[in-house]
Amino acid sequence: MNHEVRDISLAKSGRQKIEWVAANMPMLSALHREFAETKPFAGVKISLSVHLEAKTAYLCEVLAAGGASMSITGSNVLSTQDDVAAALAEAGLRVYAYHGATPEEYRRHLEMTLSHRPNIIIDDGADLVSLIHQSRPELGSEVWGGCEETTTGVVRLKAMEHQGILKFPMVAVNDAKCKHLFDNRYGTGQSVWDSIMRNTNLLIAGKQVVVAGYGWCSKGIAMRAKALGAKVIVTEIDPICAMEAIMDGFVVLPMEEAAPLGDIFISATGNKKVITVEHMLTMKDRAILSNAGHFNVEVDMAGLEEAAVEKREFRNNVMGYRLKNDRWMMVLAEGRLVNIAAADGHPAEVMDLSFAVQVLSALYIKENKGSLENRVIDVSAEIDDRIARRVLGAWGVRIDTLTREQIDYQNSWDI
Ligand code: NAD
Ligand code: SAH
Repeated sequence: MNHEVRDISLAKSGRQKIEWVAANMPMLSALHREFAETKPFAGVKISLSVHLEAKTAYLCEVLAAGGASMSITGSNVLSTQDDVAAALAEAGLRVYAYHGATPEEYRRHLEMTLSHRPNIIIDDGADLVSLIHQSRPELGSEVWGGCEETTTGVVRLKAMEHQGILKFPMVAVNDAKCKHLFDNRYGTGQSVWDSIMRNTNLLIAGKQVVVAGYGWCSKGIAMRAKALGAKVIVTEIDPICAMEAIMDGFVVLPMEEAAPLGDIFISATGNKKVITVEHMLTMKDRAILSNAGHFNVEVDMAGLEEAAVEKREFRNNVMGYRLKNDRWMMVLAEGRLVNIAAADGHPAEVMDLSFAVQVLSALYIKENKGSLENRVIDVSAEIDDRIARRVLGAWGVRIDTLTREQIDYQNSWDI
């Protein structure tokens, strides 16, 4: 069967969503038009595991317009939107995903996606790549290479490379400038607050917000919290990032000291047990806890499930846990990525940049198949530059050009 979606009759609503984002993704739309003529992916099989909502669907349609044979699943069972999956299935693409799949179903969907025997993998968090290495090693020899969307995925791939077990080259899409400088910072900065506001319907101004980490995502979250009128505390383990947070005007404290002060907590570190039950026991009643990092382990959900004396849903996507001290902890989106699991993820304009990097990196793999080492590969500065110039053009923004005299001046030393 070519698809396993929840309900194909939802396709009309999914199609509306895809059309809406497409109109706001100028770079992907330009590639769509170009690929319809040039068919650069003709005969190429691509398996993709990325949050299955409208922007990802449009990415899949752009690759399909370029001739790719697509096989698609989500990267998080809560971020899959059933109407969007239905629209892709209705358009004839292979789609295996539904919202709220069990861990076993999610794994089966990953396996069905790989049964396509892909030449190129597009991954978000390295789930497809891990599955090939752990259970389907025979597929590895058919894969020319892949592209990884997120920070944690790149960290995992580098660990595989260092162990000498990576079976094919993987492009670190996340590390491209046109990706993390915009997606991780401004995308997460906006979509995390969009999700917290739509799910709690509370005022942010005047609240004490605690942001764990001061990497690219956390910088965006803290910046937008400040703009909304919140007071912001940052926690870090890296002294340089902590100094950056201080110079950006934030208070830096260890989590132990921040815990009793916060009204809203957001962790975006890629690490585990950043907020523990011990921290929670010192928090205010009805503190709001959320995660924007890779997995549902940044807030210690397993520990909280065990420690809670009562558990009750207060609103859609807001689960309350009563602790032995009678205080309620309000956890958003089951401690999974709050902006994607309980909202629509990053806005279209930002995903336009990230997915342009994905498309051009996939093309790079196709054009260089067989000649790349089985390593984690950086996106070239040329790709970043090309995307930035085309997107600025689409936004109607012009910039200056170096004169010959300026180029010579920059290249000289005997001044
Ligand atoms: P990053 O490496 O730039 O930043 C992570 C920061 O967390 C670092 O500064 C590190 O020092 C800090 N940190 C690590 N352990 C910590 C701890 N115990 N306490 C406090 N700080 C700690 O990474 P990033 O690009 O900001 O990504 C962070 C996570 O978010 C990753 O898991 C990534 O995959 C994910 N991500 C999520 C979204 C989203 O839409 N929600 C978008 C992009 C990336
Ligand atoms: N599999 C992990 C994935 C980490 S999510 C998990 O869900 O646990 C982080 C990535 O999601 C980011 O790198 C970002 O590029 C991507 N993302 C954010 N908003 C998105 C959206 N609207 N559509 C598709 N991907 C999105």
